[in-house]
Amino acid sequence: MLTIEGLRAGYDRLEVLHGLGFSVEAGDPTVVMGANAAGKTTLCRVVTGLIPVRAGTIRLDGEDITRLSSADRVRRGIALVPEGRQVFGEMTVRENLRLGAYVHGEPAARDYDTAFGLFPILLEREGQRAGLLSGGEQQMLALARALMSRPRLLLLDEPSQGLAPKAVEQVAHAVNRIAETGVAILLVEQNLALAQMIARHAVVLETGSCVADGRASEIMASSAIQDSYLGKK
Ligand code: ATP
Repeated sequence: MLTIEGLRAGYDRLEVLHGLGFSVEAGDPTVVMGANAAGKTTLCRVVTGLIPVRAGTIRLDGEDITRLSSADRVRRGIALVPEGRQVFGEMTVRENLRLGAYVHGEPAARDYDTAFGLFPILLEREGQRAGLLSGGEQQMLALARALMSRPRLLLLDEPSQGLAPKAVEQVAHAVNRIAETGVAILLVEQNLALAQMIARHAVVLETGSCVADGRASEIMASSAIQDSYLGKK
């Protein structure tokens, strides 16, 4: 589904990703773990086209999308649930969902049905301002909004941030249900509990380079990874 090779990217004179490579398949939810400043958010930005690639390639189902605009990547099926959720607090839940479908124009009834089917709480709150939702509900809304663009690949940037353990569990449950519908998942996380509930494939980033890539259960069980990974939390 998603194949990244030799990826270099950064900001001005700072290079953050130094030749990163890994792939993500549908049915094999992938977590990218790494300490603060390892480059996780930068990776999300570069895959979604928010910052340019300096070297390397990004392919989606074999198609080279390295130079495509963000909007073209959304049209091809890449959606991002950004760090900090970024729901539009003054707009209603339904209006937030509607914006998620912008690349297709107006959402179809079935898009709302899918979102409300996965997150019944959002149907109960559909006329409410998003800023009034709890943190967990806002994360559900951010997920549902991303689904409105009918993605094939969903990127999630630290969805557990600021959430209580119970809400983290709800997020994991929702992401697993989305994965079951055939959507490929790329999760960027520092929260081991959430990563364990979702991922089958794990990649470990250390200062912009990949230091481990393999089965999530094996990588997360490794004491070396746990020490360096959890030690820096
Ligand atoms: P965190 O978990 O703290 O969000 P991260 O792994 O997501 O960390 P990034 O946010 O990708 O890491 O940051 C990687 C490096 O890039 C850091 O040194 C950071 O200071 C730098 N950086 C991030 N965003 C920008 C920006 N907009 N301009 C300049 N430097 C940036």
